[in-house]
Amino acid sequence: MDKTVVITGASGGIGSEIARVFAENGWNVAIMYMNSADEAKKLEKELISYGSRTYCRNCDVRNIKEVEEFFTLAEENLGVIDALVNNAGVALQKLFCDVTAEEADRIFDINVKGSFNCTKAVLPSMIRRKSGKIVNISSMWGICGASCEVHYSASKAAVIGFTKALAKEVGPSSINVNCVAPGLIDTKMNANLNDEDIKMLTDEIPLMKIGKPSDVAHAVYFLCSEQADYITGQVISVDGGMII
Ligand code: NAP
Repeated sequence: MDKTVVITGASGGIGSEIARVFAENGWNVAIMYMNSADEAKKLEKELISYGSRTYCRNCDVRNIKEVEEFFTLAEENLGVIDALVNNAGVALQKLFCDVTAEEADRIFDINVKGSFNCTKAVLPSMIRRKSGKIVNISSMWGICGASCEVHYSASKAAVIGFTKALAKEVGPSSINVNCVAPGLIDTKMNANLNDEDIKMLTDEIPLMKIGKPSDVAHAVYFLCSEQADYITGQVISVDGGMII
């Protein structure tokens, strides 16, 4: 197999695990990161040790020029892009009225426009080839909303709308667009939660535990595999049953 995936936010907890699962399954992996160069380079070495061909470069998903350059170079290095995982994202816990205009813009620019930018960079080639898989990472809060995370929840709801609309638009070109909505997953994004917060949240999860990045990664991989060729426009929750 000679398939290539681009993963944004691959230096983070969920993105790095998604990269590992693709590499373990024989894919070439393009790792996009923003600031965490050490984590990204370490991950790249690990993926190479699995036999994967890699391309690793920092890129701000908000900057369309950087994004276009990333995709051009990734394709030059690894070949056509078969799958894109829009995983880069930021969260913010604050009362709605305390969120500044700059903070609100940052959340939407990274979580929503960043996915638009990356998708725009890859889509023309997928349409030409009439083949491709796009998976967007939303959140359970994009489905049901979280208090003190209004902007984050709204941005993740936008990711779901984006997924469903684009799936309809590019379905005739045999491109699948789906969404994974993780619940509470053990990464540095939740480093601010103390033991009491985690216990309170865990008590509300039917499976009574927080999720691992690999739980999300396997769902993403499935949606990019041939086994998911007839699935598009869907939101797959990986949340231990929290949102039913
Ligand atoms: P994380 O460990 O904090 O990783 C976030 C990633 O996003 C990092 O790789 C970071 O890059 C990248 N990033 C941030 N701003 C960027 C930008 N402007 N351009 C490019 N990359 C940027 O968080 P995570 O938990 O793995 O989250 C991954 C995704 O899952 C996010 O979309 C998040 O909203 C979603 N999610 C997470 C949870 C959870 O409980 N953890 C639940 C639901 C949904 P650098 O570190 O290199 O700067």
